Amino acid sequence: MNIVLMGLPGAGKGTQADKIVEKYAIPHISTGDMFRAAIKGGTELGLLAKSFIDKGALVPDEVTIGIVRERLSQPDCDQGFLLDGFPRTIEQADALDNILSDLGKRIEYVVNIQVEQEELIKRLTGRRICKVCGSAYHLLFNPSKEEGICDKDGGELYQRADDNPETVSNRLEVNIKQTQPLLDFYQAKNVLTNINGQQDISDVFADVDALLQGSRN
Ligand code: ADP
Ligand code: ADP
Repeated sequence: MNIVLMGLPGAGKGTQADKIVEKYAIPHISTGDMFRAAIKGGTELGLLAKSFIDKGALVPDEVTIGIVRERLSQPDCDQGFLLDGFPRTIEQADALDNILSDLGKRIEYVVNIQVEQEELIKRLTGRRICKVCGSAYHLLFNPSKEEGICDKDGGELYQRADDNPETVSNRLEVNIKQTQPLLDFYQAKNVLTNINGQQDISDVFADVDALLQGSRN
């Protein structure tokens, strides 16, 4: 099952991705997570990515496309994959088509999680992430059992540097402008499904799951 997960920052992509990959046993490929791991590891890629991410800007296409091509070529993607946060530009979407066609694959589902901007700002500014596993919590909407501690592995929760109110607005603006052409691109290919993201986490997943289940019947 080859899936692209779309939605503005804070829509709940990471939250839903965790559930999808657990149920369908496919790798979760998040370009944002890959950049954050590179930053943490202090690699050259990390240093480069950080200079863009800290401003709320996108990392250049050639860099991002390169890391995705490498990742999709790994054998664990043979039974499917879930892309989260990629593609974000038409250049990336075209590149993805080329990468997949080289591998004899294609995208089957583009799942677009829709949430209003006012709600996104609340979600992003209250988001807390586990330092160990990257799971997302929310101070009000999805709190951990013990404050500041991950339910899954006891890791410390932190606030992403780009989740402050100033960066959030710029990130949303950049994303809104760039998303529409991508939605049009996938709509034209008949692979796009919109999901109402403004429901409880489990109800959003029920809708996503119903869509993916449909593919098996
Ligand atoms: P994205 O990966 O799209 O940026 P996340 O999955 O990190 O989004 O979710 C953003 C924030 O919103 C997190 O704090 C998360 O706990 C919270 N969240 C996710 N889904 C929902 C939902 N359906 N309702 C309320 N809060 C949510
Ligand atoms: P969110 O969806 O919450 O904005 P991500 O974790 O997907 O965050 O991405 C964090 C940052 O990493 C983005 O703001 C951007 O700078 C960079 N990034 C992630 N994916 C891409 C991509 N496909 N193209 C360019 N930059 C990206």
